[in-house]
Amino acid sequence: MSEQVLAVDIGGTKIAVAVVDETGAIATEVVRPTVASSDPDAVFAPAAEAVREALGALRDPGDPLRVGIGSAGPIDGPGGTISPVNIAAWRGFPVVDRVAAVVTEVVGGQPRVGLAGDGHCFALGEHWLGAGRDVDSMVGLVLSTGVGGGAVLDNVLFAGTSGNAVHLGHVSVNAWGPRCVCGCHGCTEMYARGPAMVALAQERGWRGGDDAKALTDDAREGHPIALEVIDHGMRALAAGIATTATELDVATFVLGGGVSKAGEVIFEPLRRHLRDFAVLDYVRDLEVRPAVLENAGLLGAAALAFTL
Ligand SMILES: [Zn+2]
Repeated sequence: MSEQVLAVDIGGTKIAVAVVDETGAIATEVVRPTVASSDPDAVFAPAAEAVREALGALRDPGDPLRVGIGSAGPIDGPGGTISPVNIAAWRGFPVVDRVAAVVTEVVGGQPRVGLAGDGHCFALGEHWLGAGRDVDSMVGLVLSTGVGGGAVLDNVLFAGTSGNAVHLGHVSVNAWGPRCVCGCHGCTEMYARGPAMVALAQERGWRGGDDAKALTDDAREGHPIALEVIDHGMRALAAGIATTATELDVATFVLGGGVSKAGEVIFEPLRRHLRDFAVLDYVRDLEVRPAVLENAGLLGAAALAFTL
């Protein structure tokens, strides 16, 4: 059996903890819903319980045990703290120390604990075992209610100074655009995220529902407004991707997240608009591949642990 690590994936709706070996095989996975509470300890309690339960399946720990944590952002990588937008009770929450303390309590010793944003873990997971496993460098993008991302460059995660590099959702694609929730103007996310495309469709008279799934379903049926607003959103995402590709000189992008699951109805306009923005020789052939893993974030947290 190969060495096992502990992977922790923290999101606004659930917290998953798994024991994973060097092949990516998951020995056990424990999932708990994220508690809605204003008390940071009350939110952490089920996570701690999940860590304790998962550790019960540990058969071949390294010495010390290595732990990778992926979390909704923003995070402070060097400080080991997280302030997820969708977990209001955690502002500067010292997740690294808290998880380490639980591990020490259960198995003893001092674990080595790494922390990365969920977009970074998505990229690590897809690079390790998914759509990017054949390339040295790739950018992973998550398109859902927001737009997240992360880059693996020359087989190493590019975390950035604070651990938030390649925050593509908040890269401006329109300097004269409206002000984003982040304070900037015309961010990619303002046009490309699922709820933004749905809102624009409704503004233009679409009455097919109130989520991105209904919108992409209608687009597949040829509904003109649905097609038009997805085209609009994917033009913004294409501009953001081309900017990132031009800056980082990366030719492979892996796109995952709920909205991307709609398939060609998203990928076709995205690739078409890319031809308009990715124009320099070295980015002209850039490829956007669909993600293949269901749990890239969790496996990416394990991949992070193996680098510690
Ligand atoms: Zn923004």
